[in-house]
Amino acid sequence: MVEKNNLINNKQYGETPQPVSHTAFCLEDYMPEAKAIIVEKLAEYRGDIFLAEALEKKMSDVIYMNATKEQETLWWLLFDKYIWSKLVDGKEKNIARLVRLQNTKKGGGGFGDAEIARAKEYPIDELIEFRNKNARCPFHNDSHASLYYYQKNNNAYCFGACGRSFDSIDIYQMLNGVDFISAVKALQ
Ligand SMILES: [Zn+2]
Repeated sequence: MVEKNNLINNKQYGETPQPVSHTAFCLEDYMPEAKAIIVEKLAEYRGDIFLAEALEKKMSDVIYMNATKEQETLWWLLFDKYIWSKLVDGKEKNIARLVRLQNTKKGGGGFGDAEIARAKEYPIDELIEFRNKNARCPFHNDSHASLYYYQKNNNAYCFGACGRSFDSIDIYQMLNGVDFISAVKALQ
């Protein structure tokens, strides 16, 4: 159940919009093709590290057999600069990131595209009181009614400081100070 909000008494009044943090973010919900891309990238990064390690071993053997002490230092410098740093540096971090993304679970608590789409259909004029489709914008300290409601698309455009449009999820988040997931759940 969503209460109509009185914009003038809104406690968040005057704050600027903040980026949303998707606490229950699931990559698959947003980008189903990512699964295959991640597998491919992981194989590529792990392949690079494997190759670098194999080269290091080979290099080590060759240096041990052939190089003087001075040459050895030089060869390892070159190896680090032109081989190891290209093949390995940053890859372990990227691998850890990709593995984390792989481990996001689909549909945490029945949350997905369908719920997001339904939340976006929640009429904005039931969240904000418009007069002739105009209201004061909740995203900044709006002395005029800068927010215009487009009923057809169910979004609202701020012609004032924001200069952008908002959907029902954005507006619910702003009015209630909640994250994306909570807003979507409330707007079902
Ligand atoms: Zn605005």
